Amino acid sequence: MDATDIAQDLEHVLYTAEQVDGRLKEVAAQIDADYAGREVLLVGVLNGAVMVMADLSRALKSHCTMDWMAVSSYGSGTKSSGVVRILKDLSTDILDKDVLIVEDIVDTGLTLSYLVQNLQSRGPASVEIMTMFRKPEAQTSDVDVKYVGFDIPNEFVVGYGLDYAGRYRNLRDVGTLAAHVYS
Ligand code: 5GP
Repeated sequence: MDATDIAQDLEHVLYTAEQVDGRLKEVAAQIDADYAGREVLLVGVLNGAVMVMADLSRALKSHCTMDWMAVSSYGSGTKSSGVVRILKDLSTDILDKDVLIVEDIVDTGLTLSYLVQNLQSRGPASVEIMTMFRKPEAQTSDVDVKYVGFDIPNEFVVGYGLDYAGRYRNLRDVGTLAAHVYS
């Protein structure tokens, strides 16, 4: 669905599908250059990263492999606490592999901080992070995100894989919700 299909649910559109696509291709080119001669293993974090993973992997000009993890982050309301439980682990051994974690959004960075530590303990050649969106707080966290699509304001956004109450993941554009949706 597009923003025009659910205009009454949205407060404003932050990025259109075209803008997301354009930026993703730039990031993919950077990843291709950085990993030249090496095959990267993309690790998508379910469920939000599904769209980024599908588009990023296809925008790459080089071979890659893909795997998935699902984690649940305990927190109050919309904030995570950093206490993370693995709901679905990787299906592959990452020993000596170049791992690139693919995320939808980084807010506090607590979820990623745990994930990086967890993956690093498995002996990979490298672990880096790509996220489509990053909020201001993430820039002051100890998590080093190498590839960022867009730095966004501290607002709750939906679309392009990001949900509110399970909905809006299939919205092509990215935007904020109108107040009536929350009530
Ligand atoms: P962090 O551990 O970085 O604080 O939390 C990251 C997770 O919180 C994301 O993977 C996502 O599930 C959720 N999250 C953070 N900000 C937003 C947002 O603006 N919109 C949505 N839909 N989820 C968000």
